[in-house]
Amino acid sequence: MKYYSLNNRNTFVDFKTAMLQGQAPDGGLYFPEKIPLWEKEFIGEMKKLSKAEIGWRIMKPFVGESLTSNELFEVMQDTLAFEFPLKKISENIYTLELFHGPTLAFKDLGARFLSRCMGKFAGQHDDKINILVATSGDTGGAVADAFHGVEGTRVFILYPSGKVSPVQEKQLTTHGNNIVAFEVEGDFDDCQRMVKEAFRDEELMQQAKFTSSNSINIARWLSQQIYYALAYAQWQEEKPPVVAVPSGNFGNLCAGLVAWKSGLPVSHFIAACNANNSFTDYISTGIFNAKPSIPTLSNAMDVGVPSNFIRILELFNNEYENIKWQISSSSVSDEETLHTIRRVYAQHGYVLDPHSAVAFASLDDYLQHSIGEKGMILGTAHPIKFPDVVEKATNIPISPSESIQKLLGLEKKSIPISIDYQLFKKFLEKLL
Ligand SMILES: *Cc1c(COP(=O)(O)O)cnc(C)c1O
Repeated sequence: MKYYSLNNRNTFVDFKTAMLQGQAPDGGLYFPEKIPLWEKEFIGEMKKLSKAEIGWRIMKPFVGESLTSNELFEVMQDTLAFEFPLKKISENIYTLELFHGPTLAFKDLGARFLSRCMGKFAGQHDDKINILVATSGDTGGAVADAFHGVEGTRVFILYPSGKVSPVQEKQLTTHGNNIVAFEVEGDFDDCQRMVKEAFRDEELMQQAKFTSSNSINIARWLSQQIYYALAYAQWQEEKPPVVAVPSGNFGNLCAGLVAWKSGLPVSHFIAACNANNSFTDYISTGIFNAKPSIPTLSNAMDVGVPSNFIRILELFNNEYENIKWQISSSSVSDEETLHTIRRVYAQHGYVLDPHSAVAFASLDDYLQHSIGEKGMILGTAHPIKFPDVVEKATNIPISPSESIQKLLGLEKKSIPISIDYQLFKKFLEKLL
């Protein structure tokens, strides 16, 4: 498999190069030259295969010659070393719980796949691989955990000060060693802008090898297809599911769309958004307007300019009518999010985190008008990561687990900076 830059369709690179560069030198996102089709037998057999086998079969064509079959299988076993249970919440809604990994959110899978691949590649390089990443909350923790102690790698995380939860903050600021956290006096979009500027800064890029680890990176993004397959392997209903995805940068939805194009049975997708609704507006009008991000209770989705939107356009050849046919979108307010957590707990005894609640509200609304259909949400985070919101909604105290208590007791180590790229660059250069 080769990958081209969405800014220039004539240069092709392999998986390893695309992954180590993060973004193409021309600033474009990488995109696979073709979407492989899954064999019919694979879809039929899925229920009988191990998680590592499913992951291996999906990723093999994307990874190509960059890893041997055995190396890829080892990466898969290590990446998928936790559970992905599909649980029934109500008569017609299931949730795929993606929060049983080390940092209790779905990003663990992509971050682990990326770090394990990098670990395999780092041995082949003399230079350290530096990872530069902006986070709205969960990416930073997942990346910090996944890369902590991986030989030959160093991670620099930018996060918006005061806009991530206490657990999220501790998850990304307490590892030390090869993990450095910059606490930015701004919002997520400011962090993302500084990271993008760094990647465009030739002087900086010449000093060391840099790559990104958010869903811009193909390794993180494409590996997220795996749990859509793991969900389908557990799906017992007759008709394919409607799948509702809590969306921010749209990496997760984009991965689901690739899996669907490869043959995964899905009847419809819903891009569930909070008040950051530029995609919802696009679906209803056909016009995309970037907006500044608005802080909400589902903070990992507070993205005004979703970086993977352009990949969705590419997947559908820019055909708005087809996009609209396969994807619906709704925007859920904070009030409705709280109401949904309260209602689902009262009626079904299931506790949703704020992000999953946005998806539940969107899917529930959609199914009101689609008689006979059933669906699943992606349960992207554990409710324990957002105790204040969940307690406020349900009135039940959320007691932190032992591991979270231990985490909260650790000392935060961050480098506070303002939204000043030159200042950030100076700090970075000192640390290289
Ligand atoms: C990152 C995140 C999202 C948004 O995922 P995207 O791939 O950026 O759309 C949703 N929920 C949680 C809990 C997250 O951490």
